[in-house]
Amino acid sequence: MNVILLGPPGVGKGTQAKRLTEEYRIPQISTGDMLRAAIKAGSQLGKEAKGFMDRGALVPDSVVLGLVDERIRADDAKNGFMLDGFPRTVVQADTLGEMLVKQGRAIDHVVCLLAANDELVRRLAGRRTCNKCSAPFHVDFKPPRKPGVCDACGGELYQRDDDKEEAIRTRLVTYDTQTKPLIEYYKGKKLLRSVDGLGSMDAVYARIREALGPA
Ligand SMILES: [Zn+2]
Repeated sequence: MNVILLGPPGVGKGTQAKRLTEEYRIPQISTGDMLRAAIKAGSQLGKEAKGFMDRGALVPDSVVLGLVDERIRADDAKNGFMLDGFPRTVVQADTLGEMLVKQGRAIDHVVCLLAANDELVRRLAGRRTCNKCSAPFHVDFKPPRKPGVCDACGGELYQRDDDKEEAIRTRLVTYDTQTKPLIEYYKGKKLLRSVDGLGSMDAVYARIREALGPA
């Protein structure tokens, strides 16, 4: 099963994708994670990407497409994959479609998670990450026992540059203008499954499963 998970930043795509990939036994392919790994490794591609991500802008297609093409050819993606954070524009969606045709494959479902912008800002601006072990926290939903300190390793918690409010607002505007047209695009191809992204993680998960059908 080849799935695209669509939705604004902060709607919980990553968390849901992890759970879905376990049940459906397909890898989650997150371009955000792949790019962050490249940044951490300090590669040329990583340096290039960081400048864009810190401003809340989109990383250029040439960079992201190369990563995705290589990743979906890997052995663990033979029986399917779940794309999280890609495609983000209609141009990328077209290119992805062509890339898949060359591999004799196609997208089966596009799940779109929906939520209001104010709720998304609240969720994202509260995120904190450990600078040592990368454990995630949230000032409202998952506060550490001691403010600013990681429960797991005692490391210092910090706010990712792209989770600062100004960058979040920019990311949401970017989503509305560049990514939202994908909803119509995939609706036209009869692949879109819209899912309400509000409520508990379990409730949202159940709705996605219903949209996708059995594993
Ligand atoms: Zn830690």
